[in-house]
Amino acid sequence: MGIPTLDDLAVDGTTVGIRVDINSPLSESGGLADDARLRAHVDTLNELLDRGGRVAILAHQGRPGGDEFARLEDHADRLAELLDHPIEYCDATFSADARAAVNLLDDGEAVLLENTRFYSEEYMEFPADEAAETFLVERLAPELDAFVNDAFAAAHRSQPSMIGFPVRVDSYAGRVMERELDVLSNIEDTPRPRVYALGGAKIADALEVAESVLSRDLADTILTSGMTGNAFLAASGVDIGEPSREAIVDRDATAIDQAADLLEEHGEKIRVPEDVAVSRDGEREVVDVADLPVDAPALDVGEATIAAYADTFETAGTAILNGPPGVFEQEAFAVGTREIFGAATRAEYSIVGGGDTAASLRSLGIDGFDHVSTGGGAALRLLTGGTLPAVEVLKTE
Ligand code: ADP
Ligand code: MG
Repeated sequence: MGIPTLDDLAVDGTTVGIRVDINSPLSESGGLADDARLRAHVDTLNELLDRGGRVAILAHQGRPGGDEFARLEDHADRLAELLDHPIEYCDATFSADARAAVNLLDDGEAVLLENTRFYSEEYMEFPADEAAETFLVERLAPELDAFVNDAFAAAHRSQPSMIGFPVRVDSYAGRVMERELDVLSNIEDTPRPRVYALGGAKIADALEVAESVLSRDLADTILTSGMTGNAFLAASGVDIGEPSREAIVDRDATAIDQAADLLEEHGEKIRVPEDVAVSRDGEREVVDVADLPVDAPALDVGEATIAAYADTFETAGTAILNGPPGVFEQEAFAVGTREIFGAATRAEYSIVGGGDTAASLRSLGIDGFDHVSTGGGAALRLLTGGTLPAVEVLKTE
């Protein structure tokens, strides 16, 4: 696809800048609550260091004004435990101190530079040539022999650290980026029948995926669940009850109408829940669709739906999952997520996208998928046939 990878880079003795995405949930004391994002980049970083690179790492954490906007010192400590090589932390990103830290690196050593989002330009979106003129890129690029982008999860953003360096420095996709693009850009080559399970609470995103894959004839079946499933139920003419309806309309006033349009055009490929699990004072109560409406919110799919959807995966060539089927954070409503996602691993080939979706697999201990994407928005962009600005700038022709 015309994107150079680490196979094309003579690493030894060169100073390599690498952008990773280690933006992580923080605990109340401010430390890392989950290090999955850090572990994802370990192979790329170890490879660069094993091959004698001098590695300057760029990353962000949180957003200005948010609770999780933080320095990267804990990230550096955790990376030091995970990597086979020494790594320092520098509390500057592109100032003289930062450039000195980069210059002091020896072969096989790394430094994690400070949160890129401490600088206002990093919170803006630019065309690549303007991104190349920001202070971050202009100051840091002259210290680098090569730039590697491994931050797939941020690849839908046109921020300076994501798209500016390739204008000035030879640039490459890291191993995470390479593998994500390999899988998610080639969905049309995966085995059929291709089953999409779309759940979760971002109904607008699920609708966009459904519309895109149905209109391109990529999907054979779409199994709807979660709040997305509730919206499709309502769109099919079922009165789902005020609490569930309100939850949908609060998020997206046009979702039910859009779902109805999709049902009209592609109804034979879209499956809606047969029963739902509503919350009665926090207790799970399964209600058949024929017995709706009820005055309690539907937080999961019911056992009949679980059995029917699980059955579909038995003969699926490919399972593509985005959005958990229920409020998996509460044990009573984690049943659908545990069972449906568990069954999806039995498809010949299985792919998972989405931040909460990946978190649900970790918290429920479900594994066995062929690919679990590190990206939410970026994965969605590829699943809907779109392009990623940070990837476009890596293309050589
Ligand atoms: P992702 O981050 O993987 O793209 P979303 O953000 O769309 O997924 O959805 C994740 C959230 O959806 C979870 O926090 C889960 O609790 C919620 N969810 C799933 N089913 C329901 C439901 N029926 N009602 C309300 N929230 C739901
Ligand atoms: Mg989410």
